[in-house]
Amino acid sequence: MRIGIDIDGVVSDSYPAWLGELNRHYGKNITVLEDYEMHLVFDVPYDDMNHFFVKNVEHLFDIPRPMKGAREGLERILQAGHEVVYVTARSQDEEKYTLNWMKKYGIPYEQILFTGEKSKVDYVKQWKLEFFIEDYMVNAQAISEAGVPVLLLNASYNQGKLPERVTRCHSWQDIIKEIECFSIHS
Ligand SMILES: [Mg+2]
Repeated sequence: MRIGIDIDGVVSDSYPAWLGELNRHYGKNITVLEDYEMHLVFDVPYDDMNHFFVKNVEHLFDIPRPMKGAREGLERILQAGHEVVYVTARSQDEEKYTLNWMKKYGIPYEQILFTGEKSKVDYVKQWKLEFFIEDYMVNAQAISEAGVPVLLLNASYNQGKLPERVTRCHSWQDIIKEIECFSIHS
């Protein structure tokens, strides 16, 4: 199978690291992200937070640790003969920071698609991805509506009813189990 995999919140444990930096910057003490839109959680204008990210991008993309079990899981997927295509909403300008981070933690990669503001669904179709791993409910819904099954890695900001063809996973171990199960039955 050719599997599409998101980076932030799936491979990189970005949000806890960013939450710390944002708390420091805004003088807040938010411990749980209940909304994927962080500017809403911090109650600041989108542009203001965006500016903070742009200004500190190198640091912000360097500090997260990998998600627990991600590297081992990715290696297992590749060993099973699947193809991995990363699909991230990061922009092409952020490629070098992303690659540095992947190398730093030994995360295997070949193809990384930087969608920026564009819809992930277009990339899913263009690259004929057959399966997708994501943490953002809006993307999970859109990709699943295009007919591609999605594994949603559980997070505080993606609670709620699951759309059709979306399966909630609580860990990378769960993800591997689901992929193995799907490969056998399809
Ligand atoms: Mg994500």
